[in-house]
Amino acid sequence: MSYIASFNKTKAILDEFGLSAQKKFGQNFLIDANIVNKIAQYACDLDTISVEIGPGIGSLSEFLALNSKKVYAHEIDQHLLPVLAKTLAAYDNIAIIEGDFLKVDFKKMPYFNDEIVVCANLPYYITTPILFKLIDSKLRIKKIVIMVQKEVGGRFKAQVGTKDYNALSVILQSRFDIKEVVKVPRHLFYPAPKVDSAVISFEKKEAPLVIDEELVKCAFQKRRKTLYNNLKEKYTQAVISHLFNSLDLKADVRAEALDVLTFCKMSEVIKDVI
Ligand code: SAM
Repeated sequence: MSYIASFNKTKAILDEFGLSAQKKFGQNFLIDANIVNKIAQYACDLDTISVEIGPGIGSLSEFLALNSKKVYAHEIDQHLLPVLAKTLAAYDNIAIIEGDFLKVDFKKMPYFNDEIVVCANLPYYITTPILFKLIDSKLRIKKIVIMVQKEVGGRFKAQVGTKDYNALSVILQSRFDIKEVVKVPRHLFYPAPKVDSAVISFEKKEAPLVIDEELVKCAFQKRRKTLYNNLKEKYTQAVISHLFNSLDLKADVRAEALDVLTFCKMSEVIKDVI
């Protein structure tokens, strides 16, 4: 069988439809069936309801369809809809949903009540907003498996005290076990991007830590400021004093010096006073 994820097939499909990869939508298509198969097998099994963001011409979607019970794939680029109708015609377990994933109202989605796995080769510039949209949603997410720029992947797993440690790392690490599952060199995409990529898996923790996201975001608001000065923007003096006293925090401590568990304790304390 000849899969979509190959250089020749990708070129032939784009030529047939008179299309080229659109930079504005971050289009870099995967052209290696082995890698795509690995990603799909890692993400799902035959009982999985998969949600894909940006199916493109269907390279990853094809393997998600082969390895999942049902696939819902959100594509923003209207020109790709007739392409997907043709390339994925053989699979009856995939539904394409047209539009911008960042604007989706999940309550209206057919998978809203299902346990889902999110899998995507994401445009790099929307990785963070997509992750925030997912974690802020009420979706029942079992796992997120996404392709990101190699360095960006490191930030999600960043440890306390490092320059990459930020609000998103704290929030993600409180809820998910995070690991890099596959490295993907740039030449396995068409067109080849300027950097290598990595597939990162976020698996829901059995006992997620309860974290006040607003508190974490506020604590990291301005990196050059101390925790105290950042919190002052949102919380009263009384609340901040109670927080610092309860956790025995130093007056000049910065957010990047506090581990995930400390943010969890801070969230617990703040819950009782505001
Ligand atoms: N999944 C395909 C693959 O692996 O070859 C294509 C990946 S390409 C890096 C990113 C895809 O996401 C493109 O098809 C692009 O049009 C789509 N996309 C970009 N922004 C989007 C958005 N906000 N919502 C849904 N799809 C989007």
